[in-house]
Amino acid sequence: MTFAIHGLAVSRGVAIGRAVLVASSRVDVAHYFVEASQVEAEIARVRAGRDAVVDEIHRLQESITHMGPKEAPHELTALLDVHLMLLQDEELTSGVKHWITDRLYNGEWALTTQLEVIARHFDEMEDAYLRERKADLEQVCERVLRAMKGTASPVVAHPRAARKATQQDLLLDDTIDVPLVLIAHDLSPADMLQFKQSVFAGFITDVGGKTSHTAIVARSMDIPAVVGARTCSHLVRQDDWVIIDGDAGVVIVDPSSIILAEYGFKQRQGELERGRLKRLLHTPAVTMDGEKVQLLANIEMPEDAPAALAAGALGVGLFRSEFLFMGRQGRLPDEEEQYQAYRKAVEGMKGLPVTIRTVDVGADKPLDDSVHDDAHLNPALGLRAIRWSLADPAMFLTQLRAILRAAAHGQVHLLVPMLAHAREIRQTLAHIDQARAMLDRKGVAHGPVKLGAMIEIPAAALSLRLFLKHFDFLSIGTNDLIQYTLAIDRADESVAHLYDPLHPAVLALVADTIAQCRAMGKDVSVCGEMAGDVTLTRLLLGMGLRSFSMHPAQILAVKQEILRADTARLAPWAQRVCAAEDPALEMSAV
Ligand code: PEP
Ligand code: MG
Repeated sequence: MTFAIHGLAVSRGVAIGRAVLVASSRVDVAHYFVEASQVEAEIARVRAGRDAVVDEIHRLQESITHMGPKEAPHELTALLDVHLMLLQDEELTSGVKHWITDRLYNGEWALTTQLEVIARHFDEMEDAYLRERKADLEQVCERVLRAMKGTASPVVAHPRAARKATQQDLLLDDTIDVPLVLIAHDLSPADMLQFKQSVFAGFITDVGGKTSHTAIVARSMDIPAVVGARTCSHLVRQDDWVIIDGDAGVVIVDPSSIILAEYGFKQRQGELERGRLKRLLHTPAVTMDGEKVQLLANIEMPEDAPAALAAGALGVGLFRSEFLFMGRQGRLPDEEEQYQAYRKAVEGMKGLPVTIRTVDVGADKPLDDSVHDDAHLNPALGLRAIRWSLADPAMFLTQLRAILRAAAHGQVHLLVPMLAHAREIRQTLAHIDQARAMLDRKGVAHGPVKLGAMIEIPAAALSLRLFLKHFDFLSIGTNDLIQYTLAIDRADESVAHLYDPLHPAVLALVADTIAQCRAMGKDVSVCGEMAGDVTLTRLLLGMGLRSFSMHPAQILAVKQEILRADTARLAPWAQRVCAAEDPALEMSAV
């Protein structure tokens, strides 16, 4: 039966495919397709992993038969029996075989998919004892996954995986030749990095806000996604057909043929529109009244630089360096590794400027999925970004040295996140001087950098004089500026309706920052998600903004708005919008 689930629209486009439910803790399991000729070998690989765990349990059983009842209580023996039984369960083994044979999933993916299927059956059981066996099943599967580590078969990207399903695919119910859509309760920004190389055509999560970092990475990948879909991962079953409408934030499950036809059409329209926008690639971003606008890219990894160039970006306005630090089980990148990464980004941009932001971990960007910040009640207000850097001078100096060294290879701008206090600014500048002096002492080459500060805390926006005195440029981080001005957690879907870029207080802070920078002749840009939102381009132009930084996929659509704009007319209109009681209403009145 067809039904719809409403969430938050985070990444445009339509994806149609089969649901792959993945437990949040298992997103880092490898997901790839094997060749048909590898199927038997893949099944054997899972079997070998399982047999290794069975042997382990047998050995344990053996050793406890020699123990007394005190060291080896009856419960332990019974538990081992249960584990053995679960490992040899027919539903598990035949299910794994099915996913490998019929869908060409690699062994680990097949195992975790079947685990999800069986776990649901356990959830539905009346008997509490049986329900609790789910945890045992998860444990034994975890052990099989560990036993399989290091035995992976060569990764083969399925040639058909990236292709959009046509309506005909769906009607024919072709089980392999269709895209897959990942559904999880939650995905962390570190998970998203894995996702970048995976086979999925879109994703849906139960939690998350529009500017949560998970949503931001989805946008950077330009794949349809919906977050904040609440109970989606419970309502959808493994392998259900789903449509993601990334523009409307809607998920349609088990669609009828009429709905499929409609969305197939919408999907094609979207592709045509993107094709049309490509014609603007080499057109300079100049408004109708001759104002030049700088369009820059936001990137997460050095490997994103080619996509930025291909989209016509005139530089990188925000390199979120924290993505180099995530998902490494606490082992941070050393100076050489960071230097190579920054240098790769700088060289990848072929002489255009690259703005490297110092690490911004904390809040919804933990270093590691397994390290949750439970100790602090309010991590978004806690040890995050520059606060974290200043709390660990050795780590901060390492990063600064790496950035300064990369500056020897091209234009580098150094951007500092989350500053608010004069003391923090002084300490940051002192660290930069110290890092430079350390390199000089060792005779290591480094280059000059322009220094910039993010304006993303209301206190910073309200003390601009301080920032304008110490920095060469400012970059407005609207994602956090909105979060902190309105006291709305950007990652919490339950308050997402109150997360409002058009709140008069937010507009006042943004407009004032732009105006003061212009008055002082300092460069200013917006690098939060507002910069890539085409519905806000004219307003930002009207406020005087001439530098926008966004994900490469958004650049051409924003450029189209710029080409149609007349800033002389937009300026008084923007003033009226900012002064209005309800700016959204004022904007729609035009
Ligand atoms: C912002 O806050 O607007 C910003 C660009 O930084 P991030 O989204 O990484 O917090
Ligand atoms: Mg921020």
